[in-house]
Amino acid sequence: MDYHTMCPECKNELNLERDALVKGDVVECEQCGMTLEVTEIDAQGNFNTVIVEEEK
Ligand SMILES: [Zn+2]
Repeated sequence: MDYHTMCPECKNELNLERDALVKGDVVECEQCGMTLEVTEIDAQGNFNTVIVEEEK
């Protein structure tokens, strides 16, 4: 299945091909390298993310 989202950091359109994507999964934006945690997914494969703050 294809999953789609927009990176909250750089507004890049992200397309992921995964067997499954669940809330709490972590994905990385290929454009800016930001680590994103999946918060919501709908039946069409559109999902929302929040930026994971990296520990320094
Ligand atoms: Zn990005």
